[in-house]
Amino acid sequence: MTKNVYDPSLRKAASTMNLGQPSLGKGEQPASRPHEELPATAGELRKQGTKVDTARILPIRQQPNGGHQSGWEQPREVSFGQPSTYGKDLVDTSAFEPSTRCITFDHPTVHDTAIPAANTLHPLRPFDSSTYLNPAFPPLNYLPGFSTTLPSRQPDYLPPRLDPLDGVQPSSASTDFKPFGTRVDRGDYARIFPHYAPPRIGWAPPQVPPKPPKIKMEPAKVQAEPVKIESERKPIDYAKPFCEFLTNNPTVFHAVDTIAKNLEKHGYSKLSERDAWDLKKGGKYYLERNGSSLIAFAIGDKYEPGNGAAMLAGHIDALTAKLKPIPKLDTKAGYVQLGVAPYAGALNSTWWDRDLGIGGRVLVKESSGKIVTKLVKLDWPIARIPTLAPHFGAAANGPFNPETQMVPIIGLDNSDISGYGNAAIDAASKPSLLGGAGAFASTQPERLVKAIAGELGISDHGSIVNWELELFDTQPATLGGLGKEFIFAGRIDDKLCSWAAIQALLNSTSTSTSTSTSSSSIIKLVALFDDEEIGSGLRQGARGNLLPSTISRIIDAFTPCTPTLTSRTFANSFLLSADVTHAVNPNFLPAYLPQHSPRLNTGLVVAADSNGHMTTDAVSTAVLQRCADRAGQRLQVFQIRNDSRSGGTVGPMLSAATGVRAVDAGIPQLSMHSIRATTGSEDPGLGVKMFEGFLDNYEEVDGEFRK
Ligand SMILES: [Zn+2]
Repeated sequence: MTKNVYDPSLRKAASTMNLGQPSLGKGEQPASRPHEELPATAGELRKQGTKVDTARILPIRQQPNGGHQSGWEQPREVSFGQPSTYGKDLVDTSAFEPSTRCITFDHPTVHDTAIPAANTLHPLRPFDSSTYLNPAFPPLNYLPGFSTTLPSRQPDYLPPRLDPLDGVQPSSASTDFKPFGTRVDRGDYARIFPHYAPPRIGWAPPQVPPKPPKIKMEPAKVQAEPVKIESERKPIDYAKPFCEFLTNNPTVFHAVDTIAKNLEKHGYSKLSERDAWDLKKGGKYYLERNGSSLIAFAIGDKYEPGNGAAMLAGHIDALTAKLKPIPKLDTKAGYVQLGVAPYAGALNSTWWDRDLGIGGRVLVKESSGKIVTKLVKLDWPIARIPTLAPHFGAAANGPFNPETQMVPIIGLDNSDISGYGNAAIDAASKPSLLGGAGAFASTQPERLVKAIAGELGISDHGSIVNWELELFDTQPATLGGLGKEFIFAGRIDDKLCSWAAIQALLNSTSTSTSTSTSSSSIIKLVALFDDEEIGSGLRQGARGNLLPSTISRIIDAFTPCTPTLTSRTFANSFLLSADVTHAVNPNFLPAYLPQHSPRLNTGLVVAADSNGHMTTDAVSTAVLQRCADRAGQRLQVFQIRNDSRSGGTVGPMLSAATGVRAVDAGIPQLSMHSIRATTGSEDPGLGVKMFEGFLDNYEEVDGEFRK
């Protein structure tokens, strides 16, 4: 049975509204779309006796003269299945003209807010998803795997729209027929969607910070040192050192190396995983793995095996584009180009038209036969991924192929038309004999080899054994805003929490503070992992054994380590998994939950997720809140909307692997995963203060949870 409650007056209201689609000019052809099948007509569907379970049928009309760049008009209305009659044929195609072409979906819905499988929606891609208004059928760019078909680089191309997520309460009312796919203003909205709450105009700012309730403070049972009040440095004092760190350390190898040197300057001794460890109570140590992950720890004077550790863990890798093993490419139209591959979500739209340098690590065979790693950084702009001007029409609109359309240009070689070879313009693609036949250098662009060798002072190109190079934005990190409230920088995710965590450890274990190792019976530890952005699955990632192995070896340095001792240690420990989180963006307030919209320059953000993408729970939040209270720091909280999906970080995998209580909390930033992002100028310092407060106070706070 079809429950057709379609109201013709609504249809009229919808059809009189301005579709407002960008039109093709005279003589312009709609972009060809080879894989698209012609949708069936309503008449054909009727003849076939189509019985589609809880079907959604979108009647559409072809626009012979364009009208929409795809050549198809957007759907005017849609029928929705009714959950209570799931399994029944709900579609009354007699409502449509027999010639009306329809797109059908035969994926059963389980609820009126269910979303058809993404591949089913493929034929819909050409439609301007920004005009989808029905909350039961979210715009395509809110669906996994979809983005709006209009180029994000041309925001003025998008028609103004009412955000479909603004103020809409999906309800069973969406089982009715609804006008669909037309632009409406706020006044029209109420008329067309009488069942729904009208969108709110304006936005009540959330209380900042939304603070977890205070726990009643009782005197700690553990003999506590006096709580350390603020040290002399203010949060803003950390802004410039952090900017310098970001600018000077564009690759993960540079960042780890600089942190290692800084640790050594502050009395931390380097350990090698290859050697036996001779550790002492009161000692400070660090180790690296792969040159791209690092653990630093300080052992309390009163440490006994089985005691816990206050652990901060973050990831120090960032989105980047890595040179392919053989990045030489044929010169095209006079351009020398470089073969690169994205690491995680790099080569996204923010990578266009950026000044990109090249850096990384180079393995060099010294004359003694020893192979050493050298870090290199060519920090003048070498590479650039040029956009196609919008004047080229559809070709400039994307989506773009990251293999063929985002290939960086690194030089010019017009020798093919100039008729003579130019020694100075040396084609990257020509066979190279640098370093001799069979040498690694001979597989690489010749001018790049010379530049790297020159930078490292290497005269024998054959001594380059291999390298791992990547592109990075050369624009320095800088303070911004009218009052320099911001930091604008690349690679904030997540050199930010990593840097702040190390700074906090140095402060907490500095001999000039009252809470150095001399009064501690625990381990204070910071672990910075590589490969978080690609799933942490490698040996230097958080899923590797670096952290558990380090803890076992610390215990083993004092007494033979047993599984029991390791388990006891983790049970007495706590992990603050520190990764950047999303600051509220004033232009997209409806994408945030009002009570979970962290602000910049306010404080560390506890990240929660009901589906376990974050490790945060009530106990771990309470432990952190107690540390924050004692350190005089503020916490904020973030959780993503139910109709979005939370990202993840190292917290859940580390707590699962070790059994340690853990909270995910990070410093807020805007534009995560953009090549250039924003945080507050006080945020690095606020991170340092909170992390330091955790390292200093965990031991006493943990006592409150042991009773
Ligand atoms: Zn991150």
